[in-house]
Amino acid sequence: MVVAAAHGFLAGVVRPDGEVLAAVHSTANLTPPAAVLELLNRAIAQAEISARHIELAVLGLPGPSLFAGTAGPGPLGGSHLRRFRDWAGRPAADVVGEHLNRPVFCENDANLAALGEAVYGESAAADTVLHVSLTHGTGAGLVIGGKLHRGGSRLAGEIGHLHVDDGGQLCECGARGCFWQTTSIPALLSELATAHGRTFSVSDLDAAAAAGELEIIRALRGFGRSLGRRIADFVVFLDPQAIVVDSTLGAASHVIADGIREAVDQYTPPQLAASVQISSGSLGVSAHLKGAAALVRTENLLVDTGHASVAGRPSGTAPS
Ligand SMILES: [Zn+2]
Repeated sequence: MVVAAAHGFLAGVVRPDGEVLAAVHSTANLTPPAAVLELLNRAIAQAEISARHIELAVLGLPGPSLFAGTAGPGPLGGSHLRRFRDWAGRPAADVVGEHLNRPVFCENDANLAALGEAVYGESAAADTVLHVSLTHGTGAGLVIGGKLHRGGSRLAGEIGHLHVDDGGQLCECGARGCFWQTTSIPALLSELATAHGRTFSVSDLDAAAAAGELEIIRALRGFGRSLGRRIADFVVFLDPQAIVVDSTLGAASHVIADGIREAVDQYTPPQLAASVQISSGSLGVSAHLKGAAALVRTENLLVDTGHASVAGRPSGTAPS
């Protein structure tokens, strides 16, 4: 069994074969460590498994891939990333490792979602998949041949930090005028709140898109076109088979995918535009959990931790 948590809002228990035994999530980011550890406890209780059946934990966090256990956390990102990686002044992996008394492997949260959709989602037949994560920022993960492409600095896929404005604000990453500062779901929610004089949530976007509210659909499609303008360059450069949009946005993700399609059709050679599939993901919040399971397999993590066999509840006996 594997316990996975992503960015302080989701925790679950998943078998290495990708079967999700439990998933609990919060609509808001939780303040670690206590609230996130409580979410982990709830997931383990919901899975109805013994603690001895937990072999390792996978922790999804923003920033560079940090692929190491509690013994060697490896190089960290800039100071802005430490606010995610350090929980109450200690490395998050150490906190979770002590809580579970198990090895902890960290991975970029957008990478986990990308791997989950690329291996278990509807784009599973595609060799090269770009998954765009949007609910908690603007990021992406690139999966080639069923494995994550992390890059030399383990920052591959950080489309939110594409440069778009020489006179833009200084970004937490150290650069100026990054894409996410103007094109992100949180920024869109803020714009909608100002325009409509009331607060908007991700759930509101989902509901409005499902109900066919034209004003919101227009805003979402425009957001998709802005994303698509940047993704179009990626399509020309890498010729991917599939672009998959964060399905935790519900019906809104389909509208955003439509906007991305419009931009890709406009800004890429027709042969490339015609060959790339652009769609919403299909796994919702399970994408991170299934991505953790795929990570365990593709990186042989059970072997690394001395657990070469798959232990725990037999497949197909998950609690209802
Ligand atoms: Zn930046």
